[in-house]
Amino acid sequence: MDADAIVVGGGPTGVMAARAASERGARVALLERYGFLGGSLTASLVGTLCGLFLREGENISYLVGGIARECAEMLKSRGLAFGPLPWEKTAVLPHVPWGLKNLFDEWIEKEERIKLLLHTQLCGCRIEGSKISNILLVNKAGTRKLTGKVFIDASGDGDLAYQAGAEMEGSPVQFPSMNFYMANVNVNEALTAGLSTLQNLINDALEKGDYDLPRSGGAFIPTMRPGEVIVAMGRISINGWPVNCADPEELTYAEREGRKQALLLAEFLKAKMPGFSEAFILDTPTQVGVRSTRRLVGKYVLNRDDVLKGAHFDDAICRSAWPIELHAEGKSTTLEFLEPGKYYQIPYRSLLPKEIGNLIVAGRCLSASYEAQASARVSGTCMAMGEAAGIAAVLALEKDGNVGEVDTSELQSILKKRGAII
Ligand SMILES: Cc1cc2nc3c(=O)[nH]c(=O)nc-3n(C[C@H](O)[C@H](O)[C@H](O)COP(=O)(O)OP(=O)(O)OC[C@H]3O[C@@H](n4cnc5c(N)ncnc54)[C@H](O)[C@@H]3O)c2cc1C
Repeated sequence: MDADAIVVGGGPTGVMAARAASERGARVALLERYGFLGGSLTASLVGTLCGLFLREGENISYLVGGIARECAEMLKSRGLAFGPLPWEKTAVLPHVPWGLKNLFDEWIEKEERIKLLLHTQLCGCRIEGSKISNILLVNKAGTRKLTGKVFIDASGDGDLAYQAGAEMEGSPVQFPSMNFYMANVNVNEALTAGLSTLQNLINDALEKGDYDLPRSGGAFIPTMRPGEVIVAMGRISINGWPVNCADPEELTYAEREGRKQALLLAEFLKAKMPGFSEAFILDTPTQVGVRSTRRLVGKYVLNRDDVLKGAHFDDAICRSAWPIELHAEGKSTTLEFLEPGKYYQIPYRSLLPKEIGNLIVAGRCLSASYEAQASARVSGTCMAMGEAAGIAAVLALEKDGNVGEVDTSELQSILKKRGAII
């Protein structure tokens, strides 16, 4: 099999990249190791879409456009998302994870030029000169070769960039967390008590030491199905340090530890939180939620100052105003906000490896420092990056696959015509 553009990973980044490239006329292969699309949003039950909005006081507006905005609006129109909901100094869009699985299926099915392979994992690649000539994938049919001209690594973990030998940074990382569903919750009672009650109960439990809670904060997010919430209160560590989810043994530990935490957290909520006394764990997710593993060290490494000072770039591809949200020390989470109304841009160079000529790396494994990634990793920003990566890949096809030769003003102009906000 061969394709013009090969996208590894069907998360929010990969789906947007594949759709954008196909809409621009490329034959695309999209590989996803699970049986559904959506990445962390679906596989790890991430219950809110962040990074979509800019907030100035009470005024909330979209900060990303294009297909990210279309995604948000379609979910809302189907009753599968509501908001924007003000949260801290920004705003989020709570959504139902399974709704996104269907929406992404529909989008990809409509694109005749996309060959989607689910249950298919990247497991290697061949380099010729400074380019990837083909990748190896493994699925029920065995190990196969897939030849392409341009490649997009949207695996979250930078699997293709790593296999291709691009420089990567794998440390430090943030704590992973396992979100899970609870059912038979009296949601009205729980919401009336609110997250402030939950916070007081957590503080109290940590002070008394009667529950060994993994985190000093957290939330429950109603899914809009009667009696059902997603609980987001976990934090998985080894001897106090974040688990490295790019390490197979540590990842195995994280999955088991996450499920143990779900039992403990459910017991705590049932005993303490109004509305939860009759609740039960409906299920744990397909995969523990991984915030960060490998990050590309690319042509430009987005940094903390860029984020907090609202840096702008000539080769910008999208905007973000999400705070630096670090789940990294002890039990607490820190949030460092940009000034109200301010945003930073992500440069195209932060998607480009130094060493590999026909590879774009987008999403949470972009080229960013530890702290900058803690802002840029959220789904709205990843979707915008994905759309830009897809268009850039098609422009690179005209340059023999050389992603570094893409005319960034042309890229920006196409993105703007598609409704993207740069
Ligand atoms: C616990 C937790 C809470 C979060 N909370 C929020 C939140 O509230 N709001 C928000 O917007 N963001 C949140 N995030 C962040 C956000 O979900 C992710 O950063 C975002 O989904 C990253 O998108 P991505 O497409 O880059 O990667 P991912 O979502 O990780 O998608 C990568 C995809 O690639 C696939 N894949 C990986 N390796 C391979 C391979 N070798 N072969 C084939 N397929 C592969 C994966 O199965 C996956 O589908 C949270 C993350 C976590 C872990």
